[in-house]
Amino acid sequence: MPESAPGHMSPEEFRRQGHAAIDWIADYWAALDDLPVRSQVAPGEVAALMPASAPETGEPFDALLADLDRVVVPGLTHWQHPRFFAYFPANSSPAAILGDLLSSGIGAQGMIWATSPAVTEVEQVVLDWLADALGLPAAFRSDGPGGGVIQDTASTATLTALLAALHRASAGDVRRRGAGHEQWTVYGSTQAHSSLVKAAMMAGLGEESVRAVAVDPATQAMDVAALREAVDADVAAGRRPVMVHVACGSTSTGATDDVAAVVGLARAHDDLWVHVDGAWAGVAAVCPELRGHLRGVEDADSFVTNPHKWLLTTFDCSTFWVRDRAALTGALTILPEYLRNAATESGAVVDYRDWHPQLGRRFRSLKLWAVLRTYGLEGLRAHVRSGVALARRVAAHVAADDRFELVTQPSLSLVVLRVRAGDEQTLAAMEAVNASGEAYLSHTTVEGRAAIRVAVGSWRTTEADVDRTWRALQDAVSAQA
Ligand SMILES: *Cc1c(COP(=O)(O)O)cnc(C)c1O
Repeated sequence: MPESAPGHMSPEEFRRQGHAAIDWIADYWAALDDLPVRSQVAPGEVAALMPASAPETGEPFDALLADLDRVVVPGLTHWQHPRFFAYFPANSSPAAILGDLLSSGIGAQGMIWATSPAVTEVEQVVLDWLADALGLPAAFRSDGPGGGVIQDTASTATLTALLAALHRASAGDVRRRGAGHEQWTVYGSTQAHSSLVKAAMMAGLGEESVRAVAVDPATQAMDVAALREAVDADVAAGRRPVMVHVACGSTSTGATDDVAAVVGLARAHDDLWVHVDGAWAGVAAVCPELRGHLRGVEDADSFVTNPHKWLLTTFDCSTFWVRDRAALTGALTILPEYLRNAATESGAVVDYRDWHPQLGRRFRSLKLWAVLRTYGLEGLRAHVRSGVALARRVAAHVAADDRFELVTQPSLSLVVLRVRAGDEQTLAAMEAVNASGEAYLSHTTVEGRAAIRVAVGSWRTTEADVDRTWRALQDAVSAQA
């Protein structure tokens, strides 16, 4: 589109509106504390505020900024709110936003090295930095047989791991003839993230290929003896075990499976791929004292963690490493004539289009680079430690009030609790807090009973926010009496 086209901002207008957009974000953050955390709108309310069709004549950008306040903000649940404790945090941060904005401005497609060498090489270096910072093995670095890549989400990383596992176990047969010639089986605990079953569905293995392995009721960690029995039974029946999903920080309670024990078991089965899912908890390993949950990862085949959850890197940024990139690229390489080029042919470069399902890719490493450089590892450690300390504060509040109890031991920055009176009282207390807009909590079920999850880790949360949320929960329970 020529710059003279109607509606195209002049460079001066772009600068002016760009400043206004950043101002809007800064004002939004400043106002967050006074907004209800959970959106209060009913279905259809947001859509009803929008015209039925796109404008025929262009409008000034200011009109859109004004509609953010009128149409969008009431329909937002504020994930950057200091009292957002639901699900897991999805931290944005000033540095990451600016890095992401620069990526948009550069607007490069990094599908292969040749389409913008910097997009590939900055990503490789930043992922090597992060691998070292998390204490991951040298084999995961790009200067060894493995390497790291940024995926959109952990779900995609888990699908990619499964495709690589199938490629390795079938010696390429799955890519040629599909997965239907063997009965492949996949393992995860009953607490494994739902993306595991989804990956099996997408890979064509079917939901029934996934074995839900029992957990220890107290810790919610995978029962490795039960895993062994399941694998042995499948082998005896002529099926082909292909991948074990190991949770390092499960979504429900932050449970941690024993990676080292699973790896030990997998070694006895040549082709059994071990994929470690530390989507939420993995980044805690930037703190050397918070690496215990990853013990054994040095021998795993792949590992995923999401800087877009706890580590201040605006969604989407899921970092995924493999020990042997040949399995991954073997599964996904496809070279159409129009992408043939000397660099690829030379074998001297990495073409990231072979590392995930999609072809096109953004310059996502810029935002992670911005985060790593402006916070420094020191700043990131301080952020993670503050989340862990605030979770301890929540746990201490729970211990000091006998109307409540901990359901599991706190895991890093996640606390799971219940109201002793029962499930109904637990869920009603949570809903009362959420409906008040004071804070936002989410629920889960542990061993068949309802529980409340308090997931700390937002960059804006203080002790006062934790205390205020705790008082709101106490008030909700007092009102039930
Ligand atoms: C959040 C989470 C996921 C899914 O993350 P996405 O990046 O949204 O796909 C997977 N596993 C665990 C343990 C998680 O906590």
